[in-house]
Amino acid sequence: MAQKIIIIGAGPCGLGAAWRLSELGHREFTVLERNSYPGGLAASFTDSEGWTFDIGGHVIFSHYPEYDRILQEILGKQLVSHTRKAFIRTQGKWIPYPFQNNVRHLSPEALLECLVGLAWAGNQPHSPRNFKEWIRATFGHGIAKHFMEPYNEKVWGIPLELMDFNWISERVKTVDFEKIMRNVIYKKDDDDWGPNAKFSYPKFGGTGEIFRRMAKALLDYICYNSEVVEIDVKNKRLKLEDGSEMLYDSLINTMPLNEFVRRCSGLKEDVRKAAQKLVHNKGIMVGVGIRRRIRPRRSWVYFPDPSVPFYRVTYLTNYSSHVAPPDHTTFIAETTCRSDEGDPGDPVSQTVEGLVSAGLIKEDDKSRLAATWSHTVEYSYPIPSLDRNANLEIIHPELERFGILSRGRFGGWVYETGNTDHAVMMGFEAAEKLLNMRKETVFPFAASTD
Ligand SMILES: Cc1cc2nc3c(=O)[nH]c(=O)nc-3n(C[C@H](O)[C@H](O)[C@H](O)COP(=O)(O)OP(=O)(O)OC[C@H]3O[C@@H](n4cnc5c(N)ncnc54)[C@H](O)[C@@H]3O)c2cc1C
Repeated sequence: MAQKIIIIGAGPCGLGAAWRLSELGHREFTVLERNSYPGGLAASFTDSEGWTFDIGGHVIFSHYPEYDRILQEILGKQLVSHTRKAFIRTQGKWIPYPFQNNVRHLSPEALLECLVGLAWAGNQPHSPRNFKEWIRATFGHGIAKHFMEPYNEKVWGIPLELMDFNWISERVKTVDFEKIMRNVIYKKDDDDWGPNAKFSYPKFGGTGEIFRRMAKALLDYICYNSEVVEIDVKNKRLKLEDGSEMLYDSLINTMPLNEFVRRCSGLKEDVRKAAQKLVHNKGIMVGVGIRRRIRPRRSWVYFPDPSVPFYRVTYLTNYSSHVAPPDHTTFIAETTCRSDEGDPGDPVSQTVEGLVSAGLIKEDDKSRLAATWSHTVEYSYPIPSLDRNANLEIIHPELERFGILSRGRFGGWVYETGNTDHAVMMGFEAAEKLLNMRKETVFPFAASTD
């Protein structure tokens, strides 16, 4: 008899797993999704007037031909390519991203601090113990002070001394001193670094359209409004919020790993303790629609200054004019809170005031406010804390012993492979692993990848 596979969550990872199982002709599977809609953190919401908002700026840049193939199959020409135009807004200036390559735009004093710091960093032994020390050792005190430290403190919402730096890889541009000096001396902008220098975005429906279409093709297998509340790992049985129970042979989990372990019975105490130590932050996403076309060809902007409430703002109508009524402009602002912090009083007005003070909109645009939207996500960034790897190395192998693959951004608790393309692929590979087809390559903590 074919093994019965249950997938918890119809976000990108759960849908990736379901897509692959279906493609391989495996029919004995069910996706259980707590929400009434698919997409998880990558969902989009369209209101009755046609405004579409994503949960933060979600752009598509894929590392995997398998994901490219799915995107082509479901969206084809409705997936539109863009060249990134990203900036850092600080000291009243627009500094092209990445900051370290474009320090020539800073004031002379700040530029000097950055260059002296870079020269110092180049001559230091490099053995940092945490993310903060890594920043100092890599960039020197100037870039640390003017961008890297204040920006990262805003995004992560925890002291940088409490974070590891082994996740960095392609997520943070490091230093090419000669190139930086050349850019300063020859007054050159250098803004095409990184895997998302080119990205794509659906013409209609926001990023969530990808996952709506994947879910539509899998409709017969997905149960919405089905929250998993208990998992008996020894008897391979789970319980839903409505009291019904289901048996499985193998389980792919994509709900946050700490929540999942809390809901499991039959796991060892050290697994429970390790799961309690996982650290995350929460995110407040605010969408603002303005009744005029705001022209600059910006994709998104980073805000290191503590006086500005958000850390990043996306010009969503520059990705697709169809996310708003004609000749209107949509911004999406992202703000971080600690996981135990309450929401700020009125995030929408704080965002609108922040957009004015940062110079993205004018004071009189407040009278052209045509739409607002806000959405809090309790789990926004899985934080690579100092002991995260050690905890994941306790949890994941033990779950796998019980036929459970916990994957995805929060299911795996990985920021470094926590984007939509990674999430879909983690699901894809989990499905193949359960059918004994291949080892996993994307999820770094899989029991059998070493
Ligand atoms: C602010 C922000 C910006 C981002 N920007 C980008 C970007 O530009 N590009 C990019 O590629 N990625 C981006 N990402 C990452 C992207 O959102 C994730 O890669 C992706 O959503 C992870 O998919 P997942 O399936 O692992 O998890 P999720 O999307 O979290 O899906 C998990 C699913 O499980 C469901 N669930 C939870 N608990 C239960 C339960 N008990 N029972 C049943 N169902 C349950 C949830 O409702 C959810 O649908 C961003 C993320 C954030 C937060």
